[in-house]
Amino acid sequence: MEMPAPRPERLAKKETLITRLREVLPEDAVIHHEAELRAYECDALSAYRCPPMAAVLPSSTQEVSHILRICHDLGIPVVPRGAGTSLAGGALPTADSVILGVARMNAVLDTDYDNRVIRVQSGRTNLSVTGAVEEDGFFYAPDPSSQLACAISGNIAMNSGGAHCLKYGVTTNNLLGVTMVEMDGTVVEIGGAHLDAAGYDLLGLICGSEGQLGVVTEATLRILPKPEGARPVLMAFDSNEVAGACVSDIIKAGVLPVAIEFMDRPCIRACEDFAKAGYPDCEALLIVEVEGSEAEIDEQLGLIKQIARNHDPLELREAKDADEAGRIWLGRKSAFGAMGQINDYMCLDGTIPVSSLPHVLKRISEMSKDYGLGVANVFHAGDGNMHPLILYNANTPGDLEKCEAFGADILKLCVEVGGCLTGEHGVGIEKRDLMWHQYEAADMEAQMAVKDVFDPAWLLNPAKVFPLDASETRRATAVAAE
Ligand SMILES: Cc1cc2nc3c(=O)[nH]c(=O)nc-3n(C[C@H](O)[C@H](O)[C@H](O)COP(=O)(O)OP(=O)(O)OC[C@H]3O[C@@H](n4cnc5c(N)ncnc54)[C@H](O)[C@@H]3O)c2cc1C
Repeated sequence: MEMPAPRPERLAKKETLITRLREVLPEDAVIHHEAELRAYECDALSAYRCPPMAAVLPSSTQEVSHILRICHDLGIPVVPRGAGTSLAGGALPTADSVILGVARMNAVLDTDYDNRVIRVQSGRTNLSVTGAVEEDGFFYAPDPSSQLACAISGNIAMNSGGAHCLKYGVTTNNLLGVTMVEMDGTVVEIGGAHLDAAGYDLLGLICGSEGQLGVVTEATLRILPKPEGARPVLMAFDSNEVAGACVSDIIKAGVLPVAIEFMDRPCIRACEDFAKAGYPDCEALLIVEVEGSEAEIDEQLGLIKQIARNHDPLELREAKDADEAGRIWLGRKSAFGAMGQINDYMCLDGTIPVSSLPHVLKRISEMSKDYGLGVANVFHAGDGNMHPLILYNANTPGDLEKCEAFGADILKLCVEVGGCLTGEHGVGIEKRDLMWHQYEAADMEAQMAVKDVFDPAWLLNPAKVFPLDASETRRATAVAAE
């Protein structure tokens, strides 16, 4: 993975930059010592690291505006950062950039139960949005597995999803408005506490734009009343393909569970060792959850179990109480942590039509043998959002490169079967160079033209999303104009 070389003329401005940032921010909000900058050298795609020139921790939209204006004047790139849990390298700095972290911007600004909306500063963590309203019977639906740590800002930038997004949709379906600061410091309001906005759907553009268009500082989010009840059923199968076929049949039948999660043997074993959730000894496991009144749950689960029985499950375990439901979810929710304890891994994120699940799972296991690298699968199967975790050893020379090649082949396969390169983790640097497999030159040009409008100097979150050869002329023109 290649990043552009840092520009000496930018590095030479470090002292001026720090002096000017200190004029608009408290002293402890400007970080520039080498040792402290190590904390910002990578996100959760930790195979790639590079400390930034400085990091800033603003507390308000106004401070963000001051920071961006200064960086814009000096021609210094800015990398927005939430909690740094991106698995696509979205928050990876370059050596000549400033990290703008929104972690201190975590306040709840307004809660409006009558209209079922909440307004928060964008650094608030995902889970603490629900935390702010759950006592009153509400919740915020998108639930990435990283929800304890990840920030709403990162969720918006990556259009994040989670286990329960099959029913409730991903971030874009639960976001109503944002306050955003453009690279030149201009503050704009997009959307609001209402269903739709007049004019272009700019909110749809911002959500999923990976920090390319502006820095989101505040967000208005939809909150929902908690469902009357929910119940998961755990299904064990003796092959990945059969479990995949079962998912496909559930979706085809038109039942709408809130979640259908898939785990294969390597992942089940790691989770079992880690979380002791009591999972059965099997090749593949599905967790299917439905919501509603007791009668609705019984009816939906009855149909789902009927479909599962057609695939000869080794076990169907329906949660009898909240405790058993918690245990069923425990292993799945700890999956990434559990895998991290046993191996280095790279977590991929491709989306495919649900009907292609059996074929794609089979191909992944064949490729795993060809590459000689293990793979564990854990993913949101109901919406076809796959997360193969490729296992490698970071200390073995050549293993990372082999892992990258294997990952690229899996993502190309996702595109081949009619899916796409990313479901919820974003493109970042990880899939940047694969974008040519998904898009023609004219498609890429249309996307880059949007960035030209919001960030004509191409200073925001450099070297992400667009292949370097696609953006080369624009970046060179912007530098020449500095
Ligand atoms: C264990 C684990 C489990 C995960 N599970 C899921 C999952 O189930 N579903 C899922 O979707 N993702 C998942 N992720 C990926 C990750 O948590 C999400 O992408 C998350 O939304 C990133 O949020 P963050 O605050 O950490 O953002 P960061 O990693 O800090 O940044 C992510 C991107 O957002 C941009 N950004 C951050 N703040 C701003 C801002 N204020 N304005 C503009 N751009 C900004 C950054 O530049 C970067 O491109 C998981 C990650 C881990 C480590």
